Amino acid sequence: MKSLSHIFLIIITVSSSYSFSSEEDKSFQEQSMLSVLYVQTSTEFAANNIQTFTNATKVLEMALQDSSWTAALEQKDNFKDKPPAIIIDVDETVLDNSPFQSRTILTGLSYPNGWSDWVNESNADAVEGVYDFLNFAEDNGVEIFYLTNRLESFRDATKKNLINLGLPFKNDDMLLMRKEENSRDKTERRKLIADKNRIILIIGDQLTDFISTKEAYVFHTDRKKLAAKYSDMWGTKWFMITNPTYGRWELSIYEDMPSSEEMATEIRKNTLKP
Ligand SMILES: [Mg+2]
Repeated sequence: MKSLSHIFLIIITVSSSYSFSSEEDKSFQEQSMLSVLYVQTSTEFAANNIQTFTNATKVLEMALQDSSWTAALEQKDNFKDKPPAIIIDVDETVLDNSPFQSRTILTGLSYPNGWSDWVNESNADAVEGVYDFLNFAEDNGVEIFYLTNRLESFRDATKKNLINLGLPFKNDDMLLMRKEENSRDKTERRKLIADKNRIILIIGDQLTDFISTKEAYVFHTDRKKLAAKYSDMWGTKWFMITNPTYGRWELSIYEDMPSSEEMATEIRKNTLKP
């Protein structure tokens, strides 16, 4: 087994350099086509999200009645009398950025090309089911914290998008952005929320919406074991939105840094289990 620090280093390197783009040959970006179509066209995806938020709503009602209930690993003691709160990620959990993903396929240019243009349009739709869930939470006196790795510079555009969709937005304290390029770990920001609130639910589309990057940035064979490790959390305190289009799950398949689209494609093929 690779050491964690070794994998961490590799994946950091991959994540900072992993941005293949080619307007001439779009075939690499086109590998994402079916996953983006699944998000944009399938009833199955929409139904799954409604299912998730319906169940989250039921759990929310239960958790409100139980002052010993907490969903955050960062929450330790003295939380029973704190106001109940939920933590929800933004991209692909509240806001659907699949139009941006579609653009990357059609242009052949991957993230971050075009990302700031898309965010500044403030025109993302809400993920199916999230509108009713968040408004139910607000109507029942639950504090909502949008915890996102969008950079601080996108605060106004993100806020505008959420408000345009009719989602709860009382004040800017509800929106916790990423302060610096390399501060992706959400642990510290979860701790800040846990200091003043009893966190009763966490919802996201990435493993790091729930646990630290230190634990989650490992090779995929070890990473997958984390699902079982936290089996008592899924569907009760933690709700995972499916995101087949991008994420750390993909980077975790690369043991060695792919330096080209061809190498990345080869590793993808070699990772398949026939
Ligand atoms: Mg997300």
